[in-house]
Amino acid sequence: MDVRTLDDLVGDFAPGGKRIFVRVDFNVPLERDAAGAIVVADERRIAASLPTLRWLLERGAALIVASHVGRPEGRPDPALSMKPIADRLAALLGRPVGFVPSSIGETVLARSSRLQPGDVLVLENLRFHDGEEACDPELARALAAPAELYVNDAFGTCHRAHASVTGVPGILPGVAGRLVEVEVAAFKKAMHEPARPVVAILGGAKIGDKIGTIRHLRKLADHLLIGGGMACTFQRAQGLPVGASLVDIAALDVAREILAERDGAQLHLPTDWIIAKEISSSAPYQIVPLDEVADPWRALDIGPRTINEFVGLIKESATVLWNGPMGVFETPPFDRGTLEVAVAIAEHPCVSLVGGGDTARAAKKARVVDRLTHVSTGGGASLDMLSGIDLPGLAVLRGRLGA
Ligand code: AMP
Repeated sequence: MDVRTLDDLVGDFAPGGKRIFVRVDFNVPLERDAAGAIVVADERRIAASLPTLRWLLERGAALIVASHVGRPEGRPDPALSMKPIADRLAALLGRPVGFVPSSIGETVLARSSRLQPGDVLVLENLRFHDGEEACDPELARALAAPAELYVNDAFGTCHRAHASVTGVPGILPGVAGRLVEVEVAAFKKAMHEPARPVVAILGGAKIGDKIGTIRHLRKLADHLLIGGGMACTFQRAQGLPVGASLVDIAALDVAREILAERDGAQLHLPTDWIIAKEISSSAPYQIVPLDEVADPWRALDIGPRTINEFVGLIKESATVLWNGPMGVFETPPFDRGTLEVAVAIAEHPCVSLVGGGDTARAAKKARVVDRLTHVSTGGGASLDMLSGIDLPGLAVLRGRLGA
């Protein structure tokens, strides 16, 4: 792997006795408990960085842990404090974790200077500063000030050129943590010289932000299966009726271009749909061929014929790359296409790479997470990897350490 990793922390860069700024992706859902306190609703992202944190602590480092949570838009928001996340981290690590209600400044410097090997200090939400997303060099300098080394374990944020992602490692010697290392290795393995045939499956609501992915996967894969709302845009681009279905009007021209291209993967679009008039489990639904989606009906899931075709292609694949649900999987019965695709991938002995928050949730709902080769923690980051884009957060971690 061309990105520097924890294993490069040797010699002058050995973690023992150093203060290390660890950028994690603890952007977890928060909720209120019975007593009204804000608590972590899903700790998986915190758990995913424990190997990195433990590795550094075992070697005598002191950790300054930083993340964003939610979208505070550059302003402090008590509802999006990192405090409850620090508390959950303490429980998971089984050791005390300090919290400082700011991410830069005198208090952070003072608390950091008192850190002993094995101590952990969590900073306040990085996005309380608008300089984080703007990649302000001043903020990057202030974040880097209390630390001697930088570790990026925030795969889900590596596609963002933010102060804590690309700014700080421009100042401190930096490496990728274990989570980032595992994620990058999985994508590299599946995308460079993959076992063929490669079946790429794309779904979700909008195609606007997935055009680059469609184009790249068309070059890489042997079969490109498109489901979910984005397939409706392709259907409309072919001049077929879509009723009241979701259509990304701005992407119609690109959809036409992609349909006209003959090179690369064979394109497979739904041949039938599950339609309903509204997204509700109690709404009457019908199974119809693709050209019978009439207003006010909406295509909300791929139909049984399409599922059969998609599952058949999955069964002939050696590698499956999947991003985006096949329908409105949050609301049964429109979850069937997504769940059947998930189960088919899990049951077939192929290399499977699943990315995107919704897709990972769908894999969990289908109870197949353990039977997939790799389920990415990153949404946008995994989409960019599938698009062949070099993530800025990784690009800064290449070359010789300290060079
Ligand atoms: P994305 O963020 O683009 O991956 O979209 C994920 C969302 O797409 C999920 O919340 C799904 O409910 C939604 N979705 C998938 N298929 C459809 C569809 N046919 N119509 C409307 N929404 C859909």
